[in-house]
Amino acid sequence: MGTNDFAPLVAMDIAHHLHPFTDYGEARQDGTRIITHADGVYIYDSDGNKILDGMAGLWCVNVGYNRHELIDAAVAQLKKLPYYNTFFKTSNEPAALLSKRLAEIAPDGMEHVFYANSGSEATDTIVRMARHFWALEGKPQKRIIIGRDYGYHGSTMVGASMGGMEGMHGQACRLPDFAHIKPPYGFLYQGNMDEDTFAETAANWLDERIHELGADNVAAFIAEPVQGAGGVIIPPQGYFDRIQEICRRHDILFIADEVITGYGRTGQWFASQTLNLAPDLMATAKGLTSGYQPMSAVMVGARVASRFIDDCGEFYHGFTYSGHPVAAAVALANLDLIERDGLIEKVREDTAPYLKTALETLSDHPLVGEVRSFGLLGAVELVDSHDSIKTFTEQGQAGIIVRDHALAGGLMVRAVRDGMVMSPPLTFTRADIDAMVALLGAALTAAAETLKQQP
Ligand SMILES: *Cc1c(COP(=O)(O)O)cnc(C)c1O
Repeated sequence: MGTNDFAPLVAMDIAHHLHPFTDYGEARQDGTRIITHADGVYIYDSDGNKILDGMAGLWCVNVGYNRHELIDAAVAQLKKLPYYNTFFKTSNEPAALLSKRLAEIAPDGMEHVFYANSGSEATDTIVRMARHFWALEGKPQKRIIIGRDYGYHGSTMVGASMGGMEGMHGQACRLPDFAHIKPPYGFLYQGNMDEDTFAETAANWLDERIHELGADNVAAFIAEPVQGAGGVIIPPQGYFDRIQEICRRHDILFIADEVITGYGRTGQWFASQTLNLAPDLMATAKGLTSGYQPMSAVMVGARVASRFIDDCGEFYHGFTYSGHPVAAAVALANLDLIERDGLIEKVREDTAPYLKTALETLSDHPLVGEVRSFGLLGAVELVDSHDSIKTFTEQGQAGIIVRDHALAGGLMVRAVRDGMVMSPPLTFTRADIDAMVALLGAALTAAAETLKQQP
């Protein structure tokens, strides 16, 4: 199809499609961008643009696009068994194989898995498990889940309530029995503290909150090892050691939301391994299938699993597509590919350190207040004045301006408040990183000009 042939499609889309996380008035005005196909680390749109995907889709396409191994696995499984449920003691071949595989690569002691279709369903499942666990322990009043500001745990009622996004809370998503603490966000909260003091201070926010709420009322603390959608917030060294000690001391479960950080992104299978965490429950999704099929997996540690296996009776929970054979087959092919291509070692030994160095080259830019990265997650904080690290009075505009310039130049990155975040496919080479950072640098310079022209 030629470029103009897409106009009717855009019109249909705008007329009938309510997009997620979209301002509908704006979409009506601007139209939508139809992504037509993708290959490797590039996506292509209906205007004929070739765009370097600095976001791996939505933090998920870990092995890049158009990988025939995943496609073939899906087709083969579709022909053999396109669907059957895993309720009532039935199973299927890929689901059984995947369960064993996940138990092998998960942090020590996480031998069991519960399947769902999205990260949101995974975190929702975790809340049900955590509360039911305490009920089985004879402590049904332990119900509160503590999350963090800027945390993201999905968009169901539970996910949104547990996450720390103000906008979402403002739209009817404040269920009872969820509480929040500030995240270890150095750029905002560290001030003159050294890293160790800041780690202690930030971890103590949890201790204080538990004291306020009463440990007898708290079921669990949930955290993304690195906060993704909240702006790639990287914890100071020692933060999670203290957090885990606090959880143990108050006997509350520790939940890792590894929906973004899982499956190689931080240079290990899971960030829990990179950061030496021992979660009781762990949410994974996105990179599990590299986005080729919707699937999520809740990894369950020994303490919770043995309770459920020994004396739960029936767990009244599950989804029609839990353990979907096609998704499981794709997940297996995806994990095989990550392993075969040595993507985890490549990230750990080569591209993560390279990304860190490459981002440093942007740190002197007048719009840049801080750059940081962890594995293949990167962030650039934008500031009004580089010299005094002055943040923008009107939040959220500068990020959008940089993002739009980046996109016009052929790079997909995302704006979070006034920061740019990156989460490229794990297949990114050094040359791809150079291209991404060069395009981002050009976008920053163009944005500085645009901002100057604004009143
Ligand atoms: C994306 C995300 C989710 C939600 O996953 P969905 O598949 O969009 O429901 C949950 N937690 C984290 C950390 C995420 O990044």
